[in-house]
Amino acid sequence: LKYADSAMYHAKNQGGHKGYQFYGSYMTDKAVETLDLENDLHNAIQQQQFSLFYQPILDLKTELVQGAEALLRWIHPTKGIIGPDKFIPLAEETGLIVPIGAWVLNEVGRQLKEWEALELPRFFVSFNVSVQQFKDRNFLGEMEKMISSNKINPKSLEVEITETGLMSNATLFLNSLKWLESKGIALVVDDFGTGYSNLNYLNILPINKLKIDKSFIQDDSGKGHNIALSILALAKKLKLKVVAEGVETKEQLDFLKKNQCDEVQGYYFSKPIESEHFIVFVKENRIL
Ligand code: C2E
Ligand code: CA
Ligand code: CA
Ligand code: CA
Repeated sequence: LKYADSAMYHAKNQGGHKGYQFYGSYMTDKAVETLDLENDLHNAIQQQQFSLFYQPILDLKTELVQGAEALLRWIHPTKGIIGPDKFIPLAEETGLIVPIGAWVLNEVGRQLKEWEALELPRFFVSFNVSVQQFKDRNFLGEMEKMISSNKINPKSLEVEITETGLMSNATLFLNSLKWLESKGIALVVDDFGTGYSNLNYLNILPINKLKIDKSFIQDDSGKGHNIALSILALAKKLKLKVVAEGVETKEQLDFLKKNQCDEVQGYYFSKPIESEHFIVFVKENRIL
């Protein structure tokens, strides 16, 4: 498969569009599809096929916008919009996540600079960083460059790393995390509660916010809400902010309000939307 892989890659890049008929006899449709996607993914950055959508994050008490999470979309020339769940795992397997992540970083910088000119009240933009990017030695340099070249206030940036990712090598990340802290960039533990952990890292790492995973918000059996309650209690003790994602209903919102969650994000307010639409949302949901 490895040979077929590189040979096919070669064939495709030589314009040999019949390349995979040759290997088709022993490759499953699924494998062919993945290879296809991988080849496309290689070109997606240069061909400017990525786009960031923004999902509003609101203060729970006032229901005013505090910020947005930037979520990656791939506008594929023939397949249409492809969500990150379809290609981020592949990008991580192939290492393409590093250049893709760098693109995300630069795009956030470009967008913040563009928004700056609109003189809106300040809001933050959070973006997802995968472990591989975080391990990459160029990452902090790229962050620094993005901030300085766009004259961004680092306080308007938040970095989301999954709990599982953080746990994979907490001590290795410590210096990088301290650097983020020194800049005033907030660190959000994403998908909190889904990674098995002894929680000790919460005492060691400079963390600002926990994001309760949507599986706990949307579980109507009541069990998920019990976990959410324990997360909220824990965060209060540790003086961490809490944001809940995946809020779709009034009931879920009321539950979070009653239990003093700080921020919310979910379809109840808005799906991830294009930047122009996000700005309209900000103007309508924020006292100027
Ligand atoms: P995540 O970081 O946990 O992001 C939250 C996901 O939940 C997003 O899916 C968002 O659209 C979705 N969501 C938000 N509110 C609701 C709701 O009320 N109901 C439902 N059903 N879903 C809701 P999305 O955009 O498909 O992203 C999926 C995952 O892909 C993200 O999960 C994140 O892990 C990853 N991802 C997205 N953008 C990037 C990126 O730029 N870099 C990296 N490394 N990963 C990214
Ligand atoms: Ca996230
Ligand atoms: Ca999540
Ligand atoms: Ca996730």
